[in-house]
Amino acid sequence: MSSSIRLTVPADSLFGPTNLPYGVYSAPGRAPRVAVRYGDHVIDLAVLLGDDVFARPSLNAFMAQGHARWVEVRAEITERLRRPVPAEAVHDLDAVTLHLPIEVADYVDFYASEHHASNLGRLFRPDNPDPLTPNWKHLPVGYHGRAASVVVSGTDIIRPAGQRKGPHDAAPVFGPSTRLDIEAELGFVLGTGNAMGESIRAEDAERHIFGAVLFNDWSARDIQAWEYVPLGPNLGKSFASTISPWVVPLLALHAARVPTPVQVPAVLPYLRMEQPWGLDVDLTVAWNGQVVSRPPYAAMYWSPAQMLAHQTVGGAPSRTGDLFASGTVSGPGKEQRGAFIELTWGGTDPVTVNGRQRTFLEDGDEIVLTATAPGADGTRIGFGEARGRIIGCERREA
Ligand code: MN
Repeated sequence: MSSSIRLTVPADSLFGPTNLPYGVYSAPGRAPRVAVRYGDHVIDLAVLLGDDVFARPSLNAFMAQGHARWVEVRAEITERLRRPVPAEAVHDLDAVTLHLPIEVADYVDFYASEHHASNLGRLFRPDNPDPLTPNWKHLPVGYHGRAASVVVSGTDIIRPAGQRKGPHDAAPVFGPSTRLDIEAELGFVLGTGNAMGESIRAEDAERHIFGAVLFNDWSARDIQAWEYVPLGPNLGKSFASTISPWVVPLLALHAARVPTPVQVPAVLPYLRMEQPWGLDVDLTVAWNGQVVSRPPYAAMYWSPAQMLAHQTVGGAPSRTGDLFASGTVSGPGKEQRGAFIELTWGGTDPVTVNGRQRTFLEDGDEIVLTATAPGADGTRIGFGEARGRIIGCERREA
C-alpha cells in the first residue's frame, strides 16, 4: 500500500492553486518527466493523473492535445490537489533538477514595447524626428531567432565572439563581445499551430497559446550593430536565450489581462480585436543580486494575440513548441527599462551595482529575471526565475 499525503501551501505563495505552472523535472538517477509546481512541491503528473502523456521529457505531447484538454487537465489537477495525493508523486523543489520544459520548434522575437523601440530609435537614429520606424505602429516588428540556443534557467552563458566595427575603426575586428547585454521579455509557448496556407486569427490566439515564460534575449550589441543592416539581428543574438523552467498557463493569467494601450492609427483588419489584451505582469531585473529595473509588461503596445496573428497571416505554418517572445519590456520610467543599453543610455550613463559603476556585462556577472502577476481570487502568481551567469570566451580568431 503506498502512502498518501495532504499537501499544504501558504496562502501567500506565488505558486498556490491559482497558478499551477507546468515544467519538466528529474529526480536523481531518473528520466525527465512533466510536473506541476505547487508551492515548493513538484508534482509528477503521470503519477498524479495516471496519464502517460506526462511521462515524457517535454510538454509538447500534452500541449498538442489542444485547448479543451488543457482546460480539463487543469481542472483535474486542481481537484486532485484538494485531496491527499500519492507520496510517490511529490518531490521537494530543492531535490530535483529542472529542465527545458518544451522542445522548442521555431522561435521568433518581436519588438512590442513602444518605450523600448522609441529609446533605441533615439539612441541609433538621433537625427530622425520620429524615433519609431514608419512601420512600427502598423505591424508587430519581429525577426526569426535560433530555437537551438534556447536554454533553461541556470545554464551558464558563454560570452559570444564575433565581428564588430566601431564608428572609428578602419576595419572590422574579431573577438569576444565587449557590449554584452540582456533583454527582459516574456516568451509565449504555442500549444497548437496552423497548417501552411492557413493563419490564426487574433481572436482565436488564446486557444493556441499554451502559456508564458520569462525570457532573457542575451544580446551582443557590438556584434549586432555591425551585422544588422539590412536583414536584422543574427549572431548578435543567436548564441543563447534563457527561459524560466515553469510555463505559466494562459488559463492562469485571466485575472492579469489588461487592455493594451490605445492603438493609433487603427490597425489593419487582421490585427483588430474587440479589445486587444495585454498582461499585467511586473518583471524585475537583478544584476548580481541587486534589482536594477522593474519593467511593466502592461505597457506593451502589441498584444500576444496580435503578434501570433501577424506571425501566421502570410500562411507560414506554426506548430506545437513554437516560441515567440515579446521583445524587451520597457516602461516610461528610467528604472523600468529592460535592457542595459537603454538603462545606461548606450553605455554613457552607468548604473551603480553593488557600489560599482556598470554599463555592460562582465564575466562572472549573474542576471536573474523574475515576475509576478494577479491571479484568480485576489492572489498573486509567480513566474519563477530566468537566471544566467556570464562565463569567459576562449575563442579567438585562428
Ligand atoms: Mn529581444
